[in-house]
Order: sequence, then structure tokens, then C-alpha cells
Amino acid sequence: MSAFETELKVALAAVQVASRVCQSVQKQITREKLDKKDNSPVTIADFASQAIVCRALAAAFPDDPVVGEEDSAELLLPENRNFLDQIKAELDKVGIAGSTTDVCGWIDRGAGQSGSRFWTLDPIDGTKGFLRGEQYAISLALIIDGRISLGILGCPNLSLQPGIETSPGTMMFAIRGQGSWSLPINSESLDRQDAKRITVSRSATWPEIRFCESVESGHSSHSRSAQIAESLGIVKTPARLDSQAKYAVVARGEADVYLRLPTKADYREKIWDHAGGVIVVEEAGGRVTDITGQPLEFTHGRELAVNRGVVATNGPLHDELLKALRDAEVA
Ligand code: AMP
Ligand code: MG
Repeated sequence: MSAFETELKVALAAVQVASRVCQSVQKQITREKLDKKDNSPVTIADFASQAIVCRALAAAFPDDPVVGEEDSAELLLPENRNFLDQIKAELDKVGIAGSTTDVCGWIDRGAGQSGSRFWTLDPIDGTKGFLRGEQYAISLALIIDGRISLGILGCPNLSLQPGIETSPGTMMFAIRGQGSWSLPINSESLDRQDAKRITVSRSATWPEIRFCESVESGHSSHSRSAQIAESLGIVKTPARLDSQAKYAVVARGEADVYLRLPTKADYREKIWDHAGGVIVVEEAGGRVTDITGQPLEFTHGRELAVNRGVVATNGPLHDELLKALRDAEVA
């Protein structure tokens, strides 16, 4: 049996069930809720997703801490109490029965501390995309001695076959030293033999390059990226996607570069917003650093405390891109 086989099996199954719940809740979003800026669907799906993944990890690896984005404190606020019943109902639909106390307990398994071996989870990355009916991801990674050893991205709205709407969503996974793979999000088999190996593109000249970035200009500066693109001779319009689906499209060669250029001097990236995606790109043959060229360090608690922004590429033009960021005084 190869390394992390059990971890992979447990984590893939959990992310798949969490994805099903997210899909079910996303279908319930109405125009009216959107117009009213009602965030309840994302709250329900986010907590349900964390409960599912943490419950599965606790059963299989009871000693492993999980550093998740959420904890149940917010749920227990008087104005949010009604959410618990709806979360419980979503869990029931996928065959997970438990009291509201159980549900809070599962969610709070995600309030762990990072250590020599821990998991990090974003139960719904790209909440704005989720609400718009666009891209979002369930991101889970196992970090051992500061190294991402395994990562999974569940991307329910990222077509397995780009451009084909009837195609199911995509789940990607990577194990350090063993490559990156993709599966249909609804795949009956979670065996590696049934997954497809993915690799980054081979594009190596700027006119060929398609970069991707956040939809939200508050999360990554669109004006700076446009300036850099122009200076390098990038001619293709950027793809804008929410969530770690950006790492997924770079990993499978649909985009060549992911730029995340800080908009606020004091913002620090959260580990769960990157760990799953980073290993998927690296094991697909790509390269990931911060905007100054430093490796992302997952050894400083919940944040990438010593890093600024992110640059993920297919490799060949990474150094030239870092130089352009320095020359433009972005880095
Ligand atoms: P994206 O979908 O790539 O735009 O990223 C979504 C993530 O951005 C969320 O999960 C937040 O944790 C994170 N985020 C929130 N504020 C900022 C910010 N000012 N800069 C960068 N990322 C942010
Ligand atoms: Mg996130």
C-alpha cells in the first residue's frame, strides 16, 4: 500500500459527501435570497460541510487536529440558532444522523491547533461564488512537519470537461511525490486507478499565457495584475474565478498562471485558502510561491504569516513573472 492511502480514501469520501450537501444547498438559492443579500445558504452549507469532514477525520484519525475556518460559537448566537436545525436536516439527507450537540461537536473538531501533523479545511472556499451560483471549493489538506503531504479540492461547479455544462463537477487530489489526479465529483469509485492524472500546461511564452485571478477585486488587485500583464505582453483576458478552483485550472493546464496580488498591506492569507490548492498545482508539475518568490510557509498557525500574496504558475515563466512584480514594485 502506498503512503497516505488510508488518509486519501477517508478524505476523498468526506469531501465528496460535503460536496453533495453544498450542491443541495446551492440549488435552494433563489433570486429573492440573492437580492436580499441573504447569506443563510452559505452559512448552512459551510457548517454542514465542516461537520461532515471533521466527523470523518475524527473517526479515522482521532489524534489528528483539524484547523478549520469555522467554529460553532457563531452558530450558538441567539440570531443564528435556527441554522442548527437546517444544518442537521442537510446532514440527515446524506445519511448522517446526530443531535445538534453532536453537530456542534463535529464542527468544533475543526478548532484544532496546528502541530507536527494536522489537517486544514476550508469547508466552503469562495463563499461569494457559492452565493452567485458560480465557483467554490471544499479544500482539505494534510500537513506534516510543515509540508503539505496530501490535498483535495472538491469543485462541484468546475466542469470535468471544460465548457460542457452537463459535465459533472471535479474533484482533484494530490499526494506528495505521487502526482495530481482528477475524478468526477459524483464518482462511484474513489480508487486512484479510476482517476485521471493531470498536468500543468507547457505554455512558455507570454502571448500564450492565460492568467486567472479572483472575481473579487478586494481579494486580489485587478489593476495591478492588468499592469503586470501589459508589461509582460500578456494578451489574453484573465479568467476570473472564485475560490481554489483557480489552483485547479492551473493544475490541469486550462490556465497557466494564478495571480493573487495583495490589496491591503496588513492582510495575511489563511492556510486553508491555499494548502489544498498548492499541492495540487505542485504535483501537477507547477510552481507556487508568494509574490516575493518565497515558498508558502505552513508553520505559523492559521496564517501564512511570513508570506504576501500568491503566484502559481506552470513553471517556465515563474522567475520572469516574479521579476516583473519586483520591477513594478508590487513585490
Ligand atoms: P477568492 O475566492 O480567491 O477571491 O478568495 C476567497 C478567500 O479570500 C476567502 O476565503 C477569504 O478568506 C479570503 N480573503 C478575505 N479578505 C481578503 C483580502 N483582503 N485579501 C485576500 N484574500 C482575502
Ligand atoms: Mg476560503
